Amino acid sequence: MFCSTCGLELFYGTADLPFNIGPSSVVTINQVPILYCEKCRGVVLEDSTMETIDKLLASVKPSRKIKPIKFPT
Ligand SMILES: [Zn+2]
Repeated sequence: MFCSTCGLELFYGTADLPFNIGPSSVVTINQVPILYCEKCRGVVLEDSTMETIDKLLASVKPSRKIKPIKFPT
């Protein structure tokens, strides 16, 4: 897979990413598998990763303090 911005090959890695759920709640998902570009720091999530994240977020209730979730492997 190649970067849509600069065309370089993307590398596999993991990142801790914050996601908004509801108007004022943010949950962090740890160790999300990502594809990233070394040049422009672009990050791409694969479709299957997005589906898993959607399911994880659907199971979280918005509140002021949400513990980080570890991405299931
Ligand atoms: Zn790039």
